[in-house]
Amino acid sequence: MKTLLATAAGACALLTTLIASAAEKMPPDTPAAPASALLAPWVGPYGGVPPFDQVKVADLQPALEAGMKQQLAEIDRIANDPAAPTFENTIAAMERTGRTLDRVGTVYGIYSSTLNDDAVQAVEREMAPKLAAFSDQITQNPQLFERISKVYDTRTTSGLTPEQQRLTWVYYTNFVRAGAKLDGAAKKRMSEINQELAKLFTQFGQNVLKDENDGVIFIDKESDLAGLPQGVRDGMAQGAEGRGQKGKWAIANTRSSVEPFLTYADNRALREQAWRMFVNRGDNGGATDNNATISQILQLRAERAKLLGFPTHAHWRLENAMAKTPDRAMELMEAVWTPAVARVHEEVADMQKIADAEKAGIKIEPWDYRYYAEKVRKAKYDLDETQVTPYLQLENLREGMFYMAQELFGFHFKPVEAGKVPVYHPDVRVWEVTDPKGALVGLWYFDPYARKGKRSGAWMNAYRNQERFDGDVKTIVSNNSNFVKGKPGEPVLISWEDARTLFHEFGHALHGLSSNVNYPSVAGTAVARDYVEFPSQLLEHWLPTPEVLNKYALHYQTGKPIPRELVAKIEAADTFNQGFKTVEYLSSALVDMKLHLAGDQKIDADKFERETLTALGMPSEIVMRHRTPQFNHVFSGDGYSAGYYSYLWSDTLTSDAWEAFTEAGGPWDKAVAKRLRDNVFSVGNTIDPADGYRQFRGRDPGIAALMRKRGFPVPPAAPATAGAK
Ligand SMILES: [Zn+2]
Repeated sequence: MKTLLATAAGACALLTTLIASAAEKMPPDTPAAPASALLAPWVGPYGGVPPFDQVKVADLQPALEAGMKQQLAEIDRIANDPAAPTFENTIAAMERTGRTLDRVGTVYGIYSSTLNDDAVQAVEREMAPKLAAFSDQITQNPQLFERISKVYDTRTTSGLTPEQQRLTWVYYTNFVRAGAKLDGAAKKRMSEINQELAKLFTQFGQNVLKDENDGVIFIDKESDLAGLPQGVRDGMAQGAEGRGQKGKWAIANTRSSVEPFLTYADNRALREQAWRMFVNRGDNGGATDNNATISQILQLRAERAKLLGFPTHAHWRLENAMAKTPDRAMELMEAVWTPAVARVHEEVADMQKIADAEKAGIKIEPWDYRYYAEKVRKAKYDLDETQVTPYLQLENLREGMFYMAQELFGFHFKPVEAGKVPVYHPDVRVWEVTDPKGALVGLWYFDPYARKGKRSGAWMNAYRNQERFDGDVKTIVSNNSNFVKGKPGEPVLISWEDARTLFHEFGHALHGLSSNVNYPSVAGTAVARDYVEFPSQLLEHWLPTPEVLNKYALHYQTGKPIPRELVAKIEAADTFNQGFKTVEYLSSALVDMKLHLAGDQKIDADKFERETLTALGMPSEIVMRHRTPQFNHVFSGDGYSAGYYSYLWSDTLTSDAWEAFTEAGGPWDKAVAKRLRDNVFSVGNTIDPADGYRQFRGRDPGIAALMRKRGFPVPPAAPATAGAK
């Protein structure tokens, strides 16, 4: 029954929508269902695979509804079981429910995130409140909660394994956190709030998407492209052609289109125009303006937190996170904020010097930052992104990731021959993953290219979780990104930053593939939000190793490996621009947390954002990475609300964990890799993450390694922030 326990992330990198699971056990009295392949257990090789060749969008809604109906019938049987509650007839039985909905939800999530069109959006608007009400119907079932409570009360004395005890704790706390202990009137209000929020989340996300789809700047003079590398120009020409403006160039209103333009375009007025278009998504008045929606979401969240007995939404959200309290998250953010802002002032001074030397006659503004930072990088480190890209071929780097997985975890990747497993788009490819003995570990789906209807960014998604309590079920995971597909036969070249993201998402995939647990609700990446980015961020560190670069970073024309001098420059420039990156991110994380600590006052998002940034001393040359009206992480779902700090929290662990390798035999140290796998990658949510980390590292993490990684001064008595109880 992972459906309602999984948090709908709808964000960054990890898509935990309605995750699927196999080992179908249809109860005999399942209600008659619509004739849809979506409802049937998955068939085919590898313990069954998603039936992508048989999906029709029109089937999604009836299938979701049939899945919900079936799960409610299953839940009713558990709730009304005349036998006394036990782990087996209550908790394990719950793990067996919702199999159909899990499978349908997986396909629905894939259509939402990668094949989204008007028809899918209509299903989303219809189903979001229904799925919210459905979750509440389960968590508010008093007979069911009573049984879960009984199992919970005796969990340490009834002979359960540690994993069974942890799973029982997960169920119990999730039910309590969803309002299982409230009285009838309060439960009713909770459910109203959740349904209203689900509608507002959908509206928020669709508004941002509409501004991104509709916003565009067309350029018709080639001279306005001065400074842009050929690859960027080609992409802009394609973009214009796709919008019926062949012969022009388009700046689309997306990060992947706007950021390269801001980095390279000499035309300052156009940079400003593009920057304004992008930072005002969701903030333009009219039908797609999100400010009123934000206000409503914040009030409903505050009311819900009060109902549940928490001072604010942030306190409720962080209760089961590794940070535990907003104070501890704020403490970490504030410790990093001050040195990061100080670094920004140094960076701006460097940029201003170059602008002055060029007699540009300007003061650095936000639309100048990326442009002049690039010039500083060239001047200081003699490093030019366009020198690096020819060595970064997507398919070679993918092989490099496989090499890393083999060396660290013993995983072997082999392509599944075309046609053996159905895919939802011809660009999608599938690999089978085996262990050193040749036994199946799982499947890895790879959907690398951008297309209309696919949300931007990169993410991992589990189609099926690993489990073993009812038979050995292998996981199915996927990585998704938005690279521009090259012409047939031509290699796809990517940036260093994109290569890092590729390794990051693959880290999430390996977290899923390494899972070695019994119960699906605690498998793979089903861990605390502020812990889940740790395994993925950690694996980014293997990209710059000589072993990966020498073998896999090969020039697309000469086949020669990337020169050592160039790698040395990349390494030297590693902490470059960290002031900008940290402040851009951290300002968003701080505003997110402060919005959700503000309680149930009526909030004007624009005003709140402005005043909060002023109070923080936000440098005027930088804008938040996600301004409030477009902050999908926080307002298109609950997943990262009061949780955007998680990336910094995880990076504290990441930086400290990487030093475990460098202090030992280096990145490929087998003993450290084994400890990492045994205590972090394979355990899912079967143990407390702080305990797992301590077993891996032999101590709690501190922030010193994080400060070193970002090139900030290490405070004299750096507190052991992240791991301390
Ligand atoms: Zn991630």
